[in-house]
Amino acid sequence: MEVALIDVDSKIPNLALMKLSAYHKRHGDNVKFYEPLLDHPDLCYASKIFDFTPEPDYWPDCEIVRGGVAYDRKLHLPEEAEHIMPDYGLYNCEYALGRFTRGCPNNCPWCVVPSMDGHEVRQVADLNEFWDGQKVVRLLDDNIMADSDIFCRACEQLSKAEVKVIWEALDIRLVTPETARALASVKQGKSIHFAWDSHAQDDAVPRGLKYLADAGLKPWRFMFYVLVGFGTKRDYDLYRIYTLRDLGTNPFVMPFDKNDRYQRDLARWCNNKVLFKSIPRFEDYDCPTNRERS
Ligand code: SF4
Repeated sequence: MEVALIDVDSKIPNLALMKLSAYHKRHGDNVKFYEPLLDHPDLCYASKIFDFTPEPDYWPDCEIVRGGVAYDRKLHLPEEAEHIMPDYGLYNCEYALGRFTRGCPNNCPWCVVPSMDGHEVRQVADLNEFWDGQKVVRLLDDNIMADSDIFCRACEQLSKAEVKVIWEALDIRLVTPETARALASVKQGKSIHFAWDSHAQDDAVPRGLKYLADAGLKPWRFMFYVLVGFGTKRDYDLYRIYTLRDLGTNPFVMPFDKNDRYQRDLARWCNNKVLFKSIPRFEDYDCPTNRERS
């Protein structure tokens, strides 16, 4: 069978397509990315993540299975494909990509995870299922710290494998002395990301950073997403940014509405580290928002 893949808009190698490729190759099928006019596949898988991405210009004339957040949040891979070693050659992907868990107990109103993966955090794989000896492992877990036992066991496996790890954003509210020590036992592939989105994290930020420092992780290692434009006031946006900077971490503004001028200006100032260092106060940044207010 000829199998075609369409990756509409992934920003990193698409894990589901790499697994489907491995699955079909195991069953003797030919698998490749779809080339319109050249290919006449028997079956096609298409994946799309973002609603706003335009549709592809051409579709093959065959059965098409559409998955990914933008097409079908409930569609899951067949069990055999879910647990197969991904076909990393499909994207010449040099790092291992996978997840130990699915699910998140939180209910952030802007997030699709609970509706896709449920509120219960459960283990779905061990490292050996998706790691093939690469030096770097990139994890896609929704909220792995929500089960501290699973998190600590995962850190043990990652530490034993001596790999560098790139995490999805971790939850600062779930940092305890135990999870901080487990995190510190792992080699980090890049800065570790947390979020300070709302008052729900106000107390957790300094507390979590204290535990992380006690475990030997310096604050400059952490980048904090600061969501703005989703029910927060400007004073509170600036309070979070200035506090995170004073604590020695790196704040990164996430505008909820990229068309909103204030949110765009704030992000441009804070996320450009040359600007952020040379102009310590947003109020002094020459931008349409501040010109309008003066
Ligand atoms: S904690 Fe993260 S994964 Fe969980 S619902 Fe909130 S944004 Fe989504």
